[in-house]
Amino acid sequence: MKFGGTSVADAERLKRAVDRIVRAKDAGNDVVAVLSARGATTDELVAMAEEVSSTPDPREMDMLLSTGERISCALAAMAINDRGHRAISLTGSQAGIVTDTSHTKARILDVRADRIRAGLADGAIVLVAGFQGVSTAHDVTTLGRGGTDLTAVAVAAALGADVCEIYTDVTGVFSADPRIVPDARKLPVVAFEEMLEMASSGAKVLQMRSVEYARNHDVRIHCRTSFTDEPGTMVLGEQETMERPLITAVTHSTEEARVTLLGVPDEPGVAGRIFTSLAEANVNVDMIVQNEPVAEGASAEISFTVPRGDLRTAHATLAPYVGPVLAEVVDDPEMGKVSIVGAGMKTHPGVAAKVFETLGVQGINIEMISTSPIKISCVIRGDRVTEAVRALHTAFELGADDVRAEDPFGARA
Ligand code: ADP
Ligand code: ASP
Ligand code: MG
Repeated sequence: MKFGGTSVADAERLKRAVDRIVRAKDAGNDVVAVLSARGATTDELVAMAEEVSSTPDPREMDMLLSTGERISCALAAMAINDRGHRAISLTGSQAGIVTDTSHTKARILDVRADRIRAGLADGAIVLVAGFQGVSTAHDVTTLGRGGTDLTAVAVAAALGADVCEIYTDVTGVFSADPRIVPDARKLPVVAFEEMLEMASSGAKVLQMRSVEYARNHDVRIHCRTSFTDEPGTMVLGEQETMERPLITAVTHSTEEARVTLLGVPDEPGVAGRIFTSLAEANVNVDMIVQNEPVAEGASAEISFTVPRGDLRTAHATLAPYVGPVLAEVVDDPEMGKVSIVGAGMKTHPGVAAKVFETLGVQGINIEMISTSPIKISCVIRGDRVTEAVRALHTAFELGADDVRAEDPFGARA
C-alpha cells in the first residue's frame, strides 16, 4: 500500500491512512506500506537547498530530500503501535533498495527485501520510506520526483505481492487530469503500454518509471483514493484488458523547455557528440527536431525539449560547444505539451489530422510534433495548455457525459 503526500499531509490524514493499513492487516493480509513525504515537504526541502546554494551538491541533496519520507514512516509507525499492532519503519537503505550512484535520479538495481520479509514473518506491519535507496557506493540516493510510486512497485515485485495499491488524492486514472477537465472520466482499466505513454507525457498520477517497472515485473497496480473505499483504476498487462476505445486519454505537461542550437555544422557525428554529452549529464531530452539547411554546406538548426528543471544543466553542458562547434544556444523556458494516448489509434488513420485541426480551430500554434504508435504529442506555448487539453478531450468525446449520451448502459470498454 503506497500513500502519497496528500494522504499523509497532516495528523488527521495520516491517521486515516493508518486506519486503512490496520484494516488491511486485520483482514488477514501481510502489509507493507510505502509512504511519501508529507504534503509539500519535498518542495520545501528543495527550496531550502536553493536558499543556501545555487548548485546544490547532488549527494547532499539526497541526504536532505530523503528525510521527508522518514518522517512520515516514523509517525505512522507510532500511530500503528498505538492501535495495538506492531509496526517497524525502515529507511530505503534498511529496506534493501539498492541503486546506482546517479544522485537525485538513481535507478534501482536490486531489492534485498530480507529485512521486510523478517518483519512480516514476525507479524509486524512494515513501513518503508519511499523515494530513496542506498547506492553501490553506500550513499543515500533518491529516485527522482514522484519516486515513492517506484519504491512501492519494486517492493511489491520483490515480495510477489498480490497487488500494489497506490493511494492518492484522486479516485483513479482519468481520461484527463480531473483538475483541469471537470468531466474527465475515471478509467476502470488501463493497459501498461497506455499508462506508460500517459505517464511519460505528463499524467503524474503514476510516476513513469514505476509503470515501466510494474510492466517488466508483472506487478498489478490498483490506483485509488485514500479518502473513500470506491474502486479505482487497475493497471494491467494488455492480455488482461478488454478491447480498448480509439483514444484513452489526453495528457499534458507545463514543465517543458525548448532548447535550440543554431549554426550546427551539417556533417556526420555532430549530433551524436552533443546528445552523448547531454545524456552523460543526465539531461532528459524528449522531442528533437532538426531543420536541414536549404543550401549545400550551410549549417543546420536543432531544437529539442527538456524538463524545465534540466534547463540549467543543459546550458552548462552545451557551453563548451558554443564557438568551436556551433554558433549559439537559445532557449524558451515556457513551453508545454499536450498528447493523446490510445492503443486503438494503431489501427485508425486520421487521428493526427483531427488533433491538428482541433488545435487549429482554437488558434493554438503547434511548435513541435512527435508520435509513437499509440501517442501523438504536440509542443505548444505553456499558457495555451489548459485550453488545448479541454478542446481535445471534447473533440474525441472522452467525457463522462459523452459516454452516457452515446451509450445509456455505459458499456464502452
Ligand atoms: P501523490 O502525491 O499521491 O503521489 P500526485 O500529485 O503525484 O499524487 O498525483 C496525483 C495527481 O495527478 C492528481 O491530483 C491529478 O491532478 C494529477 N493527474 C494528472 N493527470 C491525471 C490523470 N489522467 N488522471 C488522474 N490524475 C491525474
Ligand atoms: N516526496 C517525493 C516527491 O515529491 C517522492 C514522492 O512523493 O513520490 O517527489
Ligand atoms: Mg506522485
